[in-house]
Amino acid sequence: MVPKEVVRIEDRQDRWRYVCPRGHRSWEPTNHHFWCQKCASSDDADGVFYALSDRKTGALLSRERVRLVTPLGPYDRDLDDEGTS
Ligand SMILES: [Zn+2]
Repeated sequence: MVPKEVVRIEDRQDRWRYVCPRGHRSWEPTNHHFWCQKCASSDDADGVFYALSDRKTGALLSRERVRLVTPLGPYDRDLDDEGTS
């Protein structure tokens, strides 16, 4: 089992590190994917994407590969509990 990458979605450093496939920091998580405000406002994309880009390692991280954390705790507790053992 590969450990998940922890992404603190309100954290400035993580915001710089994890970006949408086009390099924007204006993304937010949705239930099963991600959504980027800047992409959504462009003409040729709807803003939905499925893997975060890690600028440090160049890796693409799908929604299941990241553990999203907010100041209030895990963003999706139910998803995180699935298949972690
Ligand atoms: Zn974008």
